Amino acid sequence: MGLQPNIGINRGLRKVIDNMIIDCHTHLLPRQAQQDRSEYLKADPAFGSLYSSPKARIASSDDIIHYLDKSGIDRAIVFGFPWESYETAKRNNDEVWEFHQRYPDRIIPFATFSLLERDLAYKETDRTLTGGFAGLGELSMYGLGWSLADFVALKPCLAIATAWQIPVMIHVNEPVGHKYPGKVSVDIRALFKTIKNHQDLDFILAHFGGGLFIYSLMPEIGQTMKRVYVDTAAAPFLYDSRIVSAAVNALGEENVLLGTDYPLLGISRYEKLLDEAEVHGALRSNILGENVLRILDRRLS
Ligand SMILES: [Zn+2]
Repeated sequence: MGLQPNIGINRGLRKVIDNMIIDCHTHLLPRQAQQDRSEYLKADPAFGSLYSSPKARIASSDDIIHYLDKSGIDRAIVFGFPWESYETAKRNNDEVWEFHQRYPDRIIPFATFSLLERDLAYKETDRTLTGGFAGLGELSMYGLGWSLADFVALKPCLAIATAWQIPVMIHVNEPVGHKYPGKVSVDIRALFKTIKNHQDLDFILAHFGGGLFIYSLMPEIGQTMKRVYVDTAAAPFLYDSRIVSAAVNALGEENVLLGTDYPLLGISRYEKLLDEAEVHGALRSNILGENVLRILDRRLS
């Protein structure tokens, strides 16, 4: 299936109300995997590492809309899974795009893929960003982790994202602490170098960027991380509420974004986190939606 012409993205992204709530991190997997994940578990070891437990929930598009409605969330960034099979990644991106077309004012489509085959990653970036996707991500290498070679493979994709001024979300987790499904090794130096070499691009580092933000307290690093954002995804499982002010203090009030990792968790756990962190007023509105809107508004058409 080719991408149908974009009907809603520019109109859909424009700010229409104050204090809009936007969840920047939700997953929609292919319909077939929603119905029966067994073939996918066999075919994709990275997927298996996250979803072999039946407790790992998989949401349908209806589940996502229902979740947004019941939670008072205006919009969500939706993406699939970085499948190692190009065809599966492409189909997943197409289904995310269909979802956006059904709900152009609510669903913001991001495209994701594996970097195992550099040429195919480039091809999918070109296809999806030209087709109207609003971002890349959540990019991750769940199999072997993020290596220097993966960040090198990402470079041509980042060039396209830069040309469109489209944000790139990368899965980054903390290098220490307990193990859990989806926790991978990340070559932090290679990640930082990638950020440094792309100063005119917005990076959203998922899961509080594995703590990388702390180095932006070093003056020369702070200069380099001006367009680095972190999301809150999975934080209730990982951190106490002081993580919020730590990230705000290190990166800035405009650099922390609400991401829930739905269907892993819903928004209420994050509202509790913000309550515990005593985040209110303008900062809370920024985190809950205004910050990500500013990023999305930079997209060139
Ligand atoms: Zn992630």
